[in-house]
Amino acid sequence: MSGKRHVYAFQDGDGKNKHLLGGKGANLCEMTQFGLNVPPGFVITTETCLEYLEETSRGLPEGVMTQVREQMAAVEQATGKGFGDAQNPLLVSVRSGSAMSMPGMMDTILNLGLNADTLQGVFEQTGDARFGYDAYRRFIQLFGKVALNVPDELFDAEFDAVKQKAHVTADVGLSADDLKEISERFLRVFEEHTGRAFPEDPYDQLEIAIKAVFGSWMGKRAVDYRREFNITPEMANGTAVNVCTMVFGNRGDDSATGVAFTRNPGTGENKLFGEYLINAQGEDVVAGIRTPKPIDKLADEMPEMARQLAELRDKLESHYKEVQDFEFTIERGTLYCLQTRNGKMNAIAMVRTSVEMVQEGLLSKEEALLRIDPAHLEQMLYPRLDPKARVEPIAQGLPASPGAASGFAVFDADRAEIQGKDQGQKVILLREETKPEDIHGFFAAQGILTSRGGKTSHAAVVARGMGKPCVAGAEGIHVDVQRREAYVGGRVIREGDMLTIDGSTGNVFLGEIPMVEPDFSAELNRLLQWADEVAYLRVMANADTPNDAARALKYGAKGIGLCRTERMFNAVERLPVVIEMIVAEDQAQRQAALDKLLPMQRADFKGLFEVMSPLPVTIRLLDPPIHEFLPTERQLQSDLEQLSHLRRSVLGMEVLAGSMILLHDPSAAKSEADSMRHIVDLELVEQAIEKKTLMLKKVRALTEVNPMLGHRGVRLGITFPEIYKMQIRATLEAEAECAAIGIEVHPQMMVPQVCTAEELKRVRGYMDEIRSDVEQKSGQRLNCRFGTMIEVVRACMRAESLAEEAEFFSFGTNDLTQATFSFSREDAENKFLPMYNQAGILQDNPFEVLDAKGVGKLMQLAVEWGRGVKPELSVGICGEHGGHPQSIAFCHQAGLNYVSCSAPRVPVARLAAAHAALNAVKT
Ligand code: ADP
Ligand code: MG
Ligand code: MG
Repeated sequence: MSGKRHVYAFQDGDGKNKHLLGGKGANLCEMTQFGLNVPPGFVITTETCLEYLEETSRGLPEGVMTQVREQMAAVEQATGKGFGDAQNPLLVSVRSGSAMSMPGMMDTILNLGLNADTLQGVFEQTGDARFGYDAYRRFIQLFGKVALNVPDELFDAEFDAVKQKAHVTADVGLSADDLKEISERFLRVFEEHTGRAFPEDPYDQLEIAIKAVFGSWMGKRAVDYRREFNITPEMANGTAVNVCTMVFGNRGDDSATGVAFTRNPGTGENKLFGEYLINAQGEDVVAGIRTPKPIDKLADEMPEMARQLAELRDKLESHYKEVQDFEFTIERGTLYCLQTRNGKMNAIAMVRTSVEMVQEGLLSKEEALLRIDPAHLEQMLYPRLDPKARVEPIAQGLPASPGAASGFAVFDADRAEIQGKDQGQKVILLREETKPEDIHGFFAAQGILTSRGGKTSHAAVVARGMGKPCVAGAEGIHVDVQRREAYVGGRVIREGDMLTIDGSTGNVFLGEIPMVEPDFSAELNRLLQWADEVAYLRVMANADTPNDAARALKYGAKGIGLCRTERMFNAVERLPVVIEMIVAEDQAQRQAALDKLLPMQRADFKGLFEVMSPLPVTIRLLDPPIHEFLPTERQLQSDLEQLSHLRRSVLGMEVLAGSMILLHDPSAAKSEADSMRHIVDLELVEQAIEKKTLMLKKVRALTEVNPMLGHRGVRLGITFPEIYKMQIRATLEAEAECAAIGIEVHPQMMVPQVCTAEELKRVRGYMDEIRSDVEQKSGQRLNCRFGTMIEVVRACMRAESLAEEAEFFSFGTNDLTQATFSFSREDAENKFLPMYNQAGILQDNPFEVLDAKGVGKLMQLAVEWGRGVKPELSVGICGEHGGHPQSIAFCHQAGLNYVSCSAPRVPVARLAAAHAALNAVKT
């Protein structure tokens, strides 16, 4: 194994091999090789990390330190400095980095190589004792903390003690002597805590640091993070170590450090976005210790550097063809790039940059589409504060991650987890600043609010990555975690008070502010048009009312794939008529009720047709068991008890009134009885009792052992033909009425729960009969199409004969999944599915992600057999799976023509349909 290559110089490493070199290392190599100014350095591979972790007691694998020394010699040559040289010392940073970006998960050690000797060299070179001691104390603390777990608090206490002694509040107020004292105290802390001397030999320091970085891969924070984000070994296995020549942004007013995005990650605007600090070192910007300045200011303070930074931005984008999130440092007028990675953006920014980068010629349309994760688009459909709600903010911070959220204020991550996750409440995590160990609080919170730190602070970066609203650096808020209170203006925010934050403006409000649906941006429309051009699947929406339909149109639906007619039955003014129909004693009574329902349904359908014209509207005939429209047995029983109670008291009052006449004040008793009569009419009570008793009888008669497998769907249509006939007539008459006034409509009628061709044939018979009647009466030619749902296993098996009766198939994959697994959804999800998923017995929840192997197999067979009989057979899917990207990819492969999903998921589905088509071409 000794010949194995463990270390690559930045000039040599393969910039595409993130798995081996980590994201940071690969990009440092790539940037070096395409000519950016990166300080010299090298990468130790992730494979070395894994090898080391297998048996840490054996130390670093053989050959690693030898190769490190060879590479260090090259760096010495490039920089003209010596590692451990007391005259002209080379200092390095030791940085972790795995294939997946895990912000803040593993720590970096800066200024490695400092010791009592090399410190003298720094003094001589810089002539700046203050700078030297500042670098030294930072190194001691970072090395102690990262490599040997010396708690920060021990260092912080010493730091504060010296500050107090020197009567200074800000770090910059400390003198060289103060910093010298601090480094001496830090060395003592190190020795007391670790029981060993501080390593003086730079190579010892380096070896300890390398091992520590490798070890951090299995640290709790890193492991938790990987678990939470499902980062598998295929995605990232082990961390690399990057050793990089130190450059100093804290060498005076001609030095600076900063972080920037090549475009605005919140809005997508094509403009450098970031922050910097003059005379500061790396971590200062993100740590939120000093509030950094917006990047625009650099043009005033260092015009030449601002020009170079703009150039750097262009080089990065034209090379990576992707928005970059990069770190830079200016040391005495020289600009260095220290890191770059693809920028994490919210969906709004992703969409805008995709469209603009196509227009700028950086990306092709296909690349622009594939760049966006369809599921991510849902973010754009986030609610924002209702502009009509004119409320005054109590504080303002930086708009760090857009979107608005309300929740109860909580002051630490554990509390957020208890209240937000375990108790299912909405919470806002309110902190002075956040740290990597707060990550579980982010998961549980609706939004994050901090009183310190900038737009690139930990809170901001992590919230943006998760797509959660964040307001950062709301300096007007003073947080007191001990008392679990925050103070703003004259107000106190206690834990549990309701707050609203608006991450798009930075405003913070007391109480819960109403929110509104987001608008569709012009860029999103453009992007989705491109999606429709490449997609094969048409995306339709499930909608039951003209309002829903209008919304679906706004989201770009190409028709309605499912209109559930039963939803219309549930409207307040209709339910009584529906109940009349159900409890009817005979067919005549039922027909009378249906005659009342007919014009209502006709008007419903007409409304839908008008909105959707000329797109297709698919009407599903009545599906659920009819007892779902009736009150429950329990409800009826309790109503009846109350009614008889009422009846008894009214009767009792009359008797009382009668007997009181004999007593001293008969008129009082009489008037009481009268007023009682005024409120309740005995006759009405009795009528109600009679009606409810009848209903109870009916409900009992309709009770089924297994209603989902019972008297429902087409089985109702066959046993009570007049119900389906009414719905068919309503549809066809609505079509005729539209046609008469010149509105082009394409209705489709679809029959649920079908398992034999004979069922379809009968319903088709009703339709033919009613069609000729309506055509004759209206004088219009009707084009309503006839199709079947495929949601029963037998329907899949009999697809050939069903295709003879149907012009289209629509898979109902909810029911088909239940039937295929023999799982009832509620029981599965509540009782055993989570355990099945955890134990790896099932990969996913088949009700969320279409089960391609089982349910999908049935679908493929049904498509193949159906098209065998009728090649032009149109096939689609309606229900939740129709809006799920992975399921959509499957539907594309299975040769479906359309998917139908709820309106808000239509944009997601349109993009997913484009991805499916593009990915299919690629493979
Ligand atoms: P992270 O992954 O947490 O960003 P980094 O390795 O990028 O960790 O480093 C932390 C900070 O130290 C960053 O601000 C970075 O710019 C700075 N830094 C890292 N290496 C150097 C270096 N060689 N010279 C100057 N600053 C550095
Ligand atoms: Mg970094
Ligand atoms: Mg169904």
